Amino acid sequence: MTRLRYLSSICAVCGETCRFSIPEAVVSIGSRDLDTRPAEPLRSTIYAWVKRCPSCGYCAPNPGKAQEGAAEVVKLPRYREQLDSRKFPRVANTFLCWSIIQEDLGAQAQAAWASLHAAWACDDEGDDVPARICRKRAVNLMRRAWEQGERLAPQAGADEALLVDLLRRAGRFREARAVAKEVIEQNPHPLITEIMRFQIRLVAASDRGAHTVAEARRSRQAASL
Ligand SMILES: [Zn+2]
Repeated sequence: MTRLRYLSSICAVCGETCRFSIPEAVVSIGSRDLDTRPAEPLRSTIYAWVKRCPSCGYCAPNPGKAQEGAAEVVKLPRYREQLDSRKFPRVANTFLCWSIIQEDLGAQAQAAWASLHAAWACDDEGDDVPARICRKRAVNLMRRAWEQGERLAPQAGADEALLVDLLRRAGRFREARAVAKEVIEQNPHPLITEIMRFQIRLVAASDRGAHTVAEARRSRQAASL
């Protein structure tokens, strides 16, 4: 069980003092999912990664800070609607609001990450339709980030590998397979090639579930026996 501590901060948007319960710093032990989601115990602290000001609804990893323009985004009808949307779990709404702020302020890669994290919050609730919507949004934001010369992760092929998982888990198998094949042709790091081959096998089995990097490696070892 993760221990909690309390954090007080002054909301950078409305000036109210907010108190958040947050878990003590933890690491992840074990293999990540193919979409980078960390293992436990870090995995279960997701609800605290982005916080929501109870007064004005500003959502951010640190509500004590706000980029220029964030206060205006918080007032937008689109933001207000997302904040309390009944279509998504509450934690997913918090991530999606942070994602909207990042998107509006031009940080497409950050917005894509926040949308992926929202998908994880939906996965935890077993909400498949909203999880697909979050992944679709992450795909669109990722492509927009690329157009602006931004990447989500520095390693060559890492973004494309993430894209394949987003597409597969959203049920867009044909696209996922096509991107995985393109990645392999570009001769990426051997681990990425292994993961892409694993993804192609998952697609062939119409598997939309979460899988880990360790499974991809084991699957390769099993295939080479
Ligand atoms: Zn506030």
